[in-house]
Amino acid sequence: MAEPMLKFDAVDVFYGPVQALKQVSLSVQPGETVALIGANGAGKSTLLMSIFGQPRIAQGEIYFQGEPISQRSTHFIAASGIAQAPEGRRIFADMTVEENLQMGTIAIGSAHQKSDLARMYELFPRLLERRKQRAMTLSGGEQQMLAIARALMSRPRLLLLDEPSLGLAPIVVKQIFAILRELTQQGMTLFLVEQNARHALALADRGYVMANGEIRLSGSGQALLDNEEVRSAYLGGT
Ligand code: ATP
Repeated sequence: MAEPMLKFDAVDVFYGPVQALKQVSLSVQPGETVALIGANGAGKSTLLMSIFGQPRIAQGEIYFQGEPISQRSTHFIAASGIAQAPEGRRIFADMTVEENLQMGTIAIGSAHQKSDLARMYELFPRLLERRKQRAMTLSGGEQQMLAIARALMSRPRLLLLDEPSLGLAPIVVKQIFAILRELTQQGMTLFLVEQNARHALALADRGYVMANGEIRLSGSGQALLDNEEVRSAYLGGT
């Protein structure tokens, strides 16, 4: 098998006396889409944040393309090709859509900015229509699209997504997942954390189920969708 793009090897994370990650091991292969699902408080956000070194891990190691990164700075990790489209969007509210996208190239320089902007507008036509509009005036779904597009502007090798469907209407969730599918078909490597297990597992090649800081189950997206435990705990028993 190829070298994993991302690998967690027996990772522990603590917040004071609380252990938020317990011996977590997982991997994401190049070109793969992997979903991490789990209930509130399971440790999903902690796992994503630990990739950028905040919080620092207490045990184990995190590897990006074979290199240990747990002792690296957040800046180093971002510059080496991992981008995150954050939960809560965290876009620059006062800037226009286009200015937000331009900010996405800060770490890599602006050499490809024009062609990459054109590519983003192709992928997200809604952002093209609104490119001169200030980000604060966008709908929730459009802000999520902008957060994803801005992350892509840094030409990441690995795109991390924290709850891309959070707080969005079902029809908008569908649009976002259709765009993610297009990205995976273009060969992007995606690691997404989601409470919306149905959409996430339908998109993913493989998935992991997390509970109480531990990986409880793993398998292909379809196998997890068919799994009794997953169905009753995360898919509303259907
Ligand atoms: P959610 O979907 O609700 O965000 P999650 O699966 O992302 O949940 P985490 O936010 O990673 O879960 O939280 C995992 C555990 O760590 C929880 O018990 C939480 O209360 C605890 N925790 C998270 N952040 C901190 C912190 N800064 N200090 C102390 N405990 C924390």
